[in-house]
Amino acid sequence: MKIKRLPPDVAMRIAAGEVVERPVSVVKELMENSLDAGATRISVWVVQGGRVSLVVEDDGRGIDEEDLALAVESHATSKIASLDDLESIGTLGYRGEALSSVAAVSRLDIRSRTGDSSSGGRIKSEGGVISSQGELNCKAGTRVQVDDLFFNLPARRKFLKSPVAEMRRITKLIQEYSVAYPEVSFLLYGDTKLVYSTPGSLDRGAVLERLWGDEPKVRSSQGERGNYRVSLWWQEAPRTSRISLMAFVNGRRIDEPTIKAAIASGETNSSGNWAVWIETPPDEVDVNVHPAKTEVLFRHGGDLFSSVKDCAMSLQGDRRPSNPPSLPLYSPESPKTESPKIDFPRPKTKRPEYKDDRGSLFTRVEAPVVKSEPRVSQETPPSVSSKPEDTVFLGQLSSGYLLFDRSGELVIMDHHGAHERINFDRIKKSMERDRAVQSLAIPVPLPPSLQSDCEEHLDKLGELGFDFQRSDGVLQLSGVPDFRGCGSISPLTLLRSSMVGLEGGRISREAVWLRWATIACKASVKLTWRISPQEAMALWRDMNEDGAVAACPHGRPVIITLSDREIASRFERS
Ligand code: ADP
Ligand code: MG
Repeated sequence: MKIKRLPPDVAMRIAAGEVVERPVSVVKELMENSLDAGATRISVWVVQGGRVSLVVEDDGRGIDEEDLALAVESHATSKIASLDDLESIGTLGYRGEALSSVAAVSRLDIRSRTGDSSSGGRIKSEGGVISSQGELNCKAGTRVQVDDLFFNLPARRKFLKSPVAEMRRITKLIQEYSVAYPEVSFLLYGDTKLVYSTPGSLDRGAVLERLWGDEPKVRSSQGERGNYRVSLWWQEAPRTSRISLMAFVNGRRIDEPTIKAAIASGETNSSGNWAVWIETPPDEVDVNVHPAKTEVLFRHGGDLFSSVKDCAMSLQGDRRPSNPPSLPLYSPESPKTESPKIDFPRPKTKRPEYKDDRGSLFTRVEAPVVKSEPRVSQETPPSVSSKPEDTVFLGQLSSGYLLFDRSGELVIMDHHGAHERINFDRIKKSMERDRAVQSLAIPVPLPPSLQSDCEEHLDKLGELGFDFQRSDGVLQLSGVPDFRGCGSISPLTLLRSSMVGLEGGRISREAVWLRWATIACKASVKLTWRISPQEAMALWRDMNEDGAVAACPHGRPVIITLSDREIASRFERS
């Protein structure tokens, strides 16, 4: 076949496709231009997920009217002038390709005025061809409108996702930039509704707290190694293995596997939301690797890895519980004549008491961290059958297990597993009976990061017993599943734990209930906590209620029994 030169407009559209993959890439490029122009307020309007129209407006420096035509030409930039400048790029843009690429695959309309000129200008183009240009009386700053994206690139248009899915990407992007640039006010409208906003007056931690919610607590740490200064924020997400990460280097958003690897390289579970902010001299990092500028090369990647890892580990170290106190049942130092004194010291850390209450109180509790995912046992384990009055509590081993004398038998109980079983049975029973909803006296506004996840699953969450209402466009949690007697779980923790069960689009009610049971249990009874005789007996009674079974919902046994016969035979008395 003969080799032919591609017509310039075809070549241009192909090249444009590398910079502009979908609506969110347009928003990213336009927003970066606004930030480079020193904007303090950036507003974004999105119609139909950006398929129909996208507008980015800022109060930045503006473009001179006579430069407007140049701005939409490819390789035209005000940010670098020579190859040397590439060594130390201090702006987000520098390739001079964004506006020309967007222009090539859309109908574009730019209005702009610089602060020092009395009038501004406007330029319109279709598929990269300028259709009109002139003077315009407009406010200072720049407004870029992109209509009918990919109207002349049908292959690419076909690959666009639903408006909701495209909007989700745009929302996430703007949320991330609002964290990176807390001094800038961001406003995002979706089909005229305000979807997300920041005031531009908070610090980074405060923006993150508004975005993620303040529960579980957002923790942060800083560190420095070589030329890399790293700040990390982490909001732990118990009971998932998902790491959701946003990372910025010198204000540039990057997708860098090294950072995720560094975070995940510690020994403990690092699931949850992470924000990583890296500062380094511009010549330490080569940003000129990818047209969308999301991949970068680090000169000393090893230093960066270690610095992120150290910071992440210091955060995870904060979370690790201190060793709980333990006391052996029998201490050799005790006087031989007296029977050993069984003491139940209170742990240093405050913990809620185990009660066999049937009330449901919603208070704030920190959810636990475990590595493995629970599995629901299919088998029906053996029943515990005895009356509580036949049973005497003997004490607690230093390893945490409880000892009971049940009419001469020795029973060893894993009270953590027992509690989990009790909770699971109660939840299952009350959820299967009716889907009762407990209304919250004060509806809880969802943090923006959770809101977009919930929007997709409102019907399934409704089936689980969650109610929502909307106020000024913000989704609020107004009711939670009402299962009684499982202690305290905060409404947002309950909702978050259920979201995990909805990932992948399916819903397994039992798996979600199990999660609730485990969270309720971890919050109230840990194996290593000292248990008072009253608490132990309350647990025993609850275990025996309704013929409860002797295995935890994960299928592990909850009690081990040594019968009097077995004990006698061990002592070779039978
Ligand atoms: P780059 O950002 O890589 O320079 P672009 O194609 O994105 O390339 O933009 C071309 C030029 O148009 C920029 O260098 C800048 O001078 C000007 N420009 C684009 N958007 C804005 C804006 N929002 N405010 C001020 N100037 C802008
Ligand atoms: Mg640019």
